Amino acid sequence: MNQLKPQPVRTLITGGAGFIGGHLAGHLLSLGQQVDVIDDLSTGSIENIEAYKDNPSFTYTIADMRDQPLLAEMVDRAQVIYHLAAAVGVRLIVESPVKTIETNVGCTETVLKLANKKGKKVVIASTSEVYGKNELVPFREDHDLVLGPTTKARWSYACSKAIDEFLALAYWRARGLPVVVVRLFNTVGPGQTGRYGMVLPSFVRQALSGKPITVYGDGTQSRCFSAVEEVVRCLSTLADAPAAVGQVVNVGSTQEISILELAKLVKKLTASDSPIKMIPYEEAYEEGFEDMPRRLPDVEKLRGLVGFVPEMGIEQVVQSVIRFYRER
Ligand code: UDP
Repeated sequence: MNQLKPQPVRTLITGGAGFIGGHLAGHLLSLGQQVDVIDDLSTGSIENIEAYKDNPSFTYTIADMRDQPLLAEMVDRAQVIYHLAAAVGVRLIVESPVKTIETNVGCTETVLKLANKKGKKVVIASTSEVYGKNELVPFREDHDLVLGPTTKARWSYACSKAIDEFLALAYWRARGLPVVVVRLFNTVGPGQTGRYGMVLPSFVRQALSGKPITVYGDGTQSRCFSAVEEVVRCLSTLADAPAAVGQVVNVGSTQEISILELAKLVKKLTASDSPIKMIPYEEAYEEGFEDMPRRLPDVEKLRGLVGFVPEMGIEQVVQSVIRFYRER
């Protein structure tokens, strides 16, 4: 009797040439999946998927996601969709507010609508930014979102991603579409550029080139940085977890470090002579810029669903970024 060979899972990653998308593609390929990527290269880069271009289980399409017939075809072929395409990076958001809102709301709306036609599972990447100015740390998924006024461009990012979350959960509740909403905390690793304001790659590049390491504000604000390799494992495990459907899940590390401490750590690990330069927020971003003093996730829900949480130490994570920039 002819045994039918099981077909590999076919996955679509929107924003798959981005920093996280590229790592996710590599991880899913290593699990034996067929991976299709769509990206408009607005913030992504071919470099992030270069390593898989010759892999027969991998395809990539450089296109605008507003090309609905094309996206519809890609969604139809996939069993699981990871929707990562979004405007990211505080600098980009402050500088291109129209694009941020249109991309973040419009693309998610399209992906959900198309996925819903065929009942395809969608993992939606959201952000810890949605917790806004809430000072009740650690942030738990059912905590209030505390956002600033609409006159401050920064909040359009949190607000647009919150709309994405509402829409995804509405599709689940009203239409039974299997969705998982993932709130990503600061994710770092090889391949991330500092071009859109992300702090760690910016610090590493500054330190390696002997330029001042620019700490915004007084540097007491803190973040938890998780290794992208661990984050993408969480994403794929969540996509496979039936109990994650219809849930909002924090994905991040719980090791907190102040930005000034991070600057000192980068300086030490690169053995750099760069001075650490403090820059007021209004000079770095815009007048009246509001930052979050702390951003720490509660990861108990994630641990319960997937059985592990990102835990790579900050030194190791910083070293991997330094190695990446040295090898370039
Ligand atoms: N930051 C900084 N210097 C930089 C870039 C960022 O001090 O060159 C600060 C930024 O103001 C924030 C933190 O580092 O307090 C993290 O910034 P990032 O944009 O990486 O992520 P966020 O957590 O703000 O989304």
